[in-house]
Amino acid sequence: MLSAPMGLMPFRTIPNSIEKRTCTMSLQTLLGSDGYLTQAADTAKYRHDIVGDIQGDPRGVARPTTTEEVSQIMAWCHANKVSVIPQGGNTGLCGGCIPQGQPDTLILSLERMNKVRNLDIMGNTITVDAGCVLADVQRIALENNRFFPVSHGGQGSAQIGGNLSTNSGGNNVLKYGTTRAQVLGLEVVLPDGQIWNGLRALHKDTAGMDLKQIFIGAEGTLGIITAAVLKLRPKPVSRETAMVAIREPADGLWLLRKLQDYVGETVSSFELMHKNAIDTFIAFRPQARVPFTESHPYLVIMEAESPSRFFDLRGAFEAALADAFEEGKAIDAVIAEADQHRLDFWAIREGMAVAMVEDDSCLKSDTSVPVHAIADFVTKTTAEFERLVPGIRPSPLGHIGDGNIHFNGQRPFDMDKQTFISHWDALKDAVENISVELGGSVCAEHGVGRIKKKAVARAKSKEEMALFHTLKNALDPDGICNPGAVL
Ligand SMILES: Cc1cc2nc3c(=O)[nH]c(=O)nc-3n(C[C@H](O)[C@H](O)[C@H](O)COP(=O)(O)OP(=O)(O)OC[C@H]3O[C@@H](n4cnc5c(N)ncnc54)[C@H](O)[C@@H]3O)c2cc1C
Repeated sequence: MLSAPMGLMPFRTIPNSIEKRTCTMSLQTLLGSDGYLTQAADTAKYRHDIVGDIQGDPRGVARPTTTEEVSQIMAWCHANKVSVIPQGGNTGLCGGCIPQGQPDTLILSLERMNKVRNLDIMGNTITVDAGCVLADVQRIALENNRFFPVSHGGQGSAQIGGNLSTNSGGNNVLKYGTTRAQVLGLEVVLPDGQIWNGLRALHKDTAGMDLKQIFIGAEGTLGIITAAVLKLRPKPVSRETAMVAIREPADGLWLLRKLQDYVGETVSSFELMHKNAIDTFIAFRPQARVPFTESHPYLVIMEAESPSRFFDLRGAFEAALADAFEEGKAIDAVIAEADQHRLDFWAIREGMAVAMVEDDSCLKSDTSVPVHAIADFVTKTTAEFERLVPGIRPSPLGHIGDGNIHFNGQRPFDMDKQTFISHWDALKDAVENISVELGGSVCAEHGVGRIKKKAVARAKSKEEMALFHTLKNALDPDGICNPGAVL
């Protein structure tokens, strides 16, 4: 058994008045006035998270343009024991990139490191700076007849460095895996400023431990990711998408298995949406087109895609749906006949995620369970939510195919916002406890950040937490990399 970590250093900072002056001068000299921002008006957008729950007051925002500059910033911070929080697109939902009550901390924004370093069509790889926006990488891949599969509601702003650091998931995990599965190599600046260049485009490399894996999902606590070699996939040329009305999650799982029996791993997405989440979306965007006139308990979006035009995906969809109707597993279904229909389906799914992020009285969650336990998870959590807050509108939605349902809860119509928020701790405990009881995780794809540390410490074993601390202590003994996040 591992012993508890010894000798963890408290996070040190140098007194504010002297340090701020020195920092401003030297970082400004290094980065210029565009590269180092200290005025409140200039730093405003970096100081609060997208949900608006966490506000910070950093000493400044460094905006390097090269790995060499990141290295110099980190060496300076290391020498002066100044803490650093890397920030990507600031779309994370756990407050991981905002200093909370940490006024001496520096935000290191990767936004100006946004170049494609190499595109290897034969080798199916793209090497990008960490500040490249996810949607741009997707677009560049498509323009070159390739596909980058990570896709989620934050993709218009989220950066590759942020996706890697949270190991983000999204809508295509079923077929392609999380962001971790798209990576061949990384470049990382370590807490003392050293640059580790692991930008290898190798599918096989057993020369020692696979170091890149410890930085993926570390949320900036072990160093700054500055670039990555990413895998590209063949561009899908045939694709089928359907929206299906079902009575309960178990019917959705049945349909997923049936479709997978017919077309195997071409099934790329299988998303569940509860009626309450759909109603919220329609209220948020009244012009939206839901393809059913009646309201149903749940809708699913199912999608399969293939780089081959010789594959009869449409036949498989029709057969799986016919089976589902015959067995009473589906109530109604629409197969997209044109690209626009498909986009309309996805606009509903993505739009409801945005609506719930923007609604500050909506309780949000991000947990996972083994796929076989999804129906149980939804039933138990619904009952517990209704017991804790009668009248609550449970709104489970998400990635049923990989076990990650966001079990959100909306305010009872007759309850004011503050009263509802006073129940949030109990509701969050409920969803997390039920997930863990069913063999799941308290964090599925959004990471830990600042808001889920207690939940993680509760859910993980002593041995696992001790290993986290051992790693952190070995790489960042002064604790300057994103203090206050994850651990
Ligand atoms: C509407 C909406 C829908 C979303 N849907 C999904 C979804 O379906 N699936 C999903 O997984 N996520 C989803 N997200 C969450 C979010 O988009 C992801 O967490 C994303 O990966 C974060 O990327 P970012 O660049 O915005 O990172 P940030 O929010 O800036 O940072 C996230 C964490 O990574 C660290 N970090 C950032 N860049 C670096 C770097 N270069 N080196 C080291 N550490 C770094 C930060 O310090 C922080 O701890 C959604 C967000 C929104 C707003």
